[in-house]
Amino acid sequence: MSRAEADTGGHLFYQSRNPRPFLDRGEGIYLYDESGKRYIDGCSGAMVSNIGHSNPRVLAKMKAQMDRATFGYRLHFRTHPSEDLAAKTVSLCPEGLDRVFFVSGGSEAVESAVKLARQYALTQGLGSRYKVISRFPSYHGCTFGALDLTGYDPLREPFAPMMEGMPKITAPMTYLDRDNLTEEARGLKYAELLRDRIEEEGPENVLAFLMEPIGGASTGALVAPDSYYTRIREICDEYGVLLIFDEVMSGAGRTGKFLASEHFGVVPDIVVLSKGFGAGYAPLGAIVAPSRLVEPVLDAGGFLHGFTYAGNPLACAAGLAVLEELEEQGLIENAARMGDLLKAKLTGLMDRYPFIGHVRGKGLLLAFELVSDRETMRPLPRELNAYNRLVEIAYELGLIIYSRRTRGGYEGDHFLVCPPLIVTEAQVDEIIGLLDTALARFATELSP
Ligand code: PLP
Repeated sequence: MSRAEADTGGHLFYQSRNPRPFLDRGEGIYLYDESGKRYIDGCSGAMVSNIGHSNPRVLAKMKAQMDRATFGYRLHFRTHPSEDLAAKTVSLCPEGLDRVFFVSGGSEAVESAVKLARQYALTQGLGSRYKVISRFPSYHGCTFGALDLTGYDPLREPFAPMMEGMPKITAPMTYLDRDNLTEEARGLKYAELLRDRIEEEGPENVLAFLMEPIGGASTGALVAPDSYYTRIREICDEYGVLLIFDEVMSGAGRTGKFLASEHFGVVPDIVVLSKGFGAGYAPLGAIVAPSRLVEPVLDAGGFLHGFTYAGNPLACAAGLAVLEELEEQGLIENAARMGDLLKAKLTGLMDRYPFIGHVRGKGLLLAFELVSDRETMRPLPRELNAYNRLVEIAYELGLIIYSRRTRGGYEGDHFLVCPPLIVTEAQVDEIIGLLDTALARFATELSP
């Protein structure tokens, strides 16, 4: 056996060696490995499997499409699944967001949004605007800029200069602040960082502001004060900067609304969707934008962008079936209800575990953070590897959760507890029971 086979059991590799068991099957919120061990998918994979695993209605609709055609290139045919999914997506989005462009994943979708913004700016004679301000910490994907490497000028030139060193502003992690401001005032304070940065970069250079309206893995379900969203929208309008919401993780119903932005009464210029949008039944992503941005681009010769698998009929049939499931089974409402319950129970665990510093999130995009001291929110020492250790203990017990150690100006271990939106009250109890046991074991390791 080669070294690779000995370490991983095969030739495949990911970011690191992968000692996990083989997945056998999934059913609802549960996954089973080949030994028959059952796991609660307490984070929907990577906040993906919003309607749970192996939903028979979705599988039947996918099978029906498979029997007809699995691929039809978009330049050769229109397809009903892609047009129907676009229509369904628009019907679920706030008014005005009425045009949809499909991709296969989140990173592709983020870049598509930026490129649409760039091309739109060109049509408006605003070619100098290329800077996209984003936040720190944040996560928007991991592609490297394939277009920058592409040797075909007609596709490259409109977008130059590419993605070098885009400006960042600090995300509003107000739960760490120990000032005397109200939450409302803190929200405004962090929003003003955007104005300052636009001024610093030169408004004539700033194309867009990109943010996760409710944070994902980067900030652990960070929700900003309401005032933040309103002021961000005002600042973008004032400077003619496009507001792009990355709802790859927060969208498709996870937070108890179809889009997280709906909680804050703010409509972005472009929305980015993936993860729960295909819910693990197909690699799928989308951007949704208003006609006022799209039409000038189409009039000017078309969007200079597209992926081979964009609008794939099988992926779109899966996506459509997922959205129908959300609607027909009332899953967005269930996410709101079960989210409140789960959040209350997570908060309840703080009474017994003083090292839980903070619980946050909305709907079923929830997280808790571990600290050395709740008062000051001093993080646990990095050497403890808490973000890994607690996940491993839970995994052994049959509960899968997702964790990160936020890095940068602030370091902290947070854990996302984001089960599929089909989760029931009894299953919420089951999750909390297992988490309680995992935390108790972790506590003995902290102070043996
Ligand atoms: N944007 C956000 C908010 C994400 O959470 C992710 C993935 O975790 C991405 C973009 C990138 O998506 P993908 O991994 O599908 O490329």
